[in-house]
Amino acid sequence: MGRERVVVVGGGFGGLNATRALAGADVDVTVVDRTNHHLFQPLLYQVATGILPPGLIAPALRSVIKKQANARALLADVHDLDLEQKVVRAEGPDGRPLELPYDTLVVAAGASHSYFGKDQFAEFAPGMKTVEDARYLRDGILSKFEMAELATDPQERAEWLTFVVIGAGPTGVELVGQVAELAHEVLPQDYRSVDTTEARILLLEGTGAVLPPFAPKLQRYTKERLEKLGVEVRLNTLAVDMDHDSITVKGPEGEETIRTRTRIWAAGVQASPLARMLAEKAGVETDRAGRIPVNPDCTVPGHPEVFAVGDMVSLNKLPGVAQPAMQEGRYVGKVIKARLAGEKSPAPFKYFDKGSMATIGHRAAVADVFGMKFTGLIGYVMWGFIHVLYLIGWGNRLGTLYTWARALWFSNNRGHRIITFEKANDELAEGTTRAGRPTPILPRSTPGAAAPPAVSPRDADRTG
Ligand SMILES: Cc1cc2nc3c(=O)[nH]c(=O)nc-3n(C[C@H](O)[C@H](O)[C@H](O)COP(=O)(O)OP(=O)(O)OC[C@H]3O[C@@H](n4cnc5c(N)ncnc54)[C@H](O)[C@@H]3O)c2cc1C
Repeated sequence: MGRERVVVVGGGFGGLNATRALAGADVDVTVVDRTNHHLFQPLLYQVATGILPPGLIAPALRSVIKKQANARALLADVHDLDLEQKVVRAEGPDGRPLELPYDTLVVAAGASHSYFGKDQFAEFAPGMKTVEDARYLRDGILSKFEMAELATDPQERAEWLTFVVIGAGPTGVELVGQVAELAHEVLPQDYRSVDTTEARILLLEGTGAVLPPFAPKLQRYTKERLEKLGVEVRLNTLAVDMDHDSITVKGPEGEETIRTRTRIWAAGVQASPLARMLAEKAGVETDRAGRIPVNPDCTVPGHPEVFAVGDMVSLNKLPGVAQPAMQEGRYVGKVIKARLAGEKSPAPFKYFDKGSMATIGHRAAVADVFGMKFTGLIGYVMWGFIHVLYLIGWGNRLGTLYTWARALWFSNNRGHRIITFEKANDELAEGTTRAGRPTPILPRSTPGAAAPPAVSPRDADRTG
């Protein structure tokens, strides 16, 4: 009989930690992921706002596990988990079918955006979950400043300069803080016709506070700090409709339509469709977020050889953040090793809560660590330390520190602001979705087109 075959679906926080926990074990591990990298999602917002290049937060999966002789990585999209035949079915990038037989299966396929049943919003309000999403957002945000520079009509310019982020969880807060810094601190000197400090930046939150899971003191601090950065925070406010040029919101003062070309979705997540597939095959129900309930040892009910971890599972009411996924992944590795050694299974999974953090711009953060609350620069330093520590590889850690020092502290610039005419054109095309590109809206030569303003409106404003 050959070695035990372990297939791990997903090379994110859960899958990678399960794989690494099996280093040295007498097993063959195959990690299959639809991307070739391990993504550190907590820093994605920095890619979306031009601070970090993607490579620093998304090292190639096969390089991450290169020293682990019993593990290999495959780039493929998993579409079937056959629990009867014990086979994972996937498709290679060219469509070739792959069959991966297993003795033990670990599914850690994460989550994606949820538009709470309003899937039509996806076309107008992209979310941020992958490297491509972050690049797409970055191109979109930067293109809007370029269009504002070209616009001659003040109303049109105001629309290009209005940014709406939907959802004030950590992702929304971090992203909106950086957009505000871009507009108010980084870009003003780079533009001639437009005053980027005129940008209107809104953060919408459906509940009564920003950072809903955090302590009230940290929520109040975050709201005040965002307002100081020039962000309009709208609480108890929902996005009820949107199109290419506007968003309609419903808040305490009723409905209002805001003219804007940029809406960013940071409001909800939905477990990977593989969670539902597993649940159906195991005969259990998923929860409202599409997560599969698992046993206290992270196994799928009725299938001791199948584990599921991370954002796609519901276990002990744990939040969908990195630490539960990492700890569950490591725990599953231990359970598999114990089984191989014929030892008793470890005690049920127990989560060790290390706290939560979020940045507000690049000089302040809130941190709730072991029951202690930190704000401001202290919170920011703690946030920076922890995030660098959890990046993979010394090269990426040092590269990130260097890039932060250069971009945020010494030059107050953003080094990764590359867009092209084609990118901007793609971003701005009406009705665009990333799946299907429509006709370009920027003709290469437009007879009689308005020239960019000769006199800077911002100077004109100053002189009245
Ligand atoms: C923008 C953003 C910011 C965040 N910030 C924080 C933070 O500050 N702190 C924090 O603790 N948490 C944060 N999180 C949450 C955290 O990143 C997740 O909880 C964590 O990544 C979950 O790990 P996972 O292994 O379950 O899923 P993931 O890390 O998402 O990994 C899932 C993997 O599965 C792969 N996959 C999915 N479907 C398939 C398929 N069909 N076939 C093959 N491969 C597949 C994906 O490509 C991916 O690599 C953030 C998340 C986002 C999106």
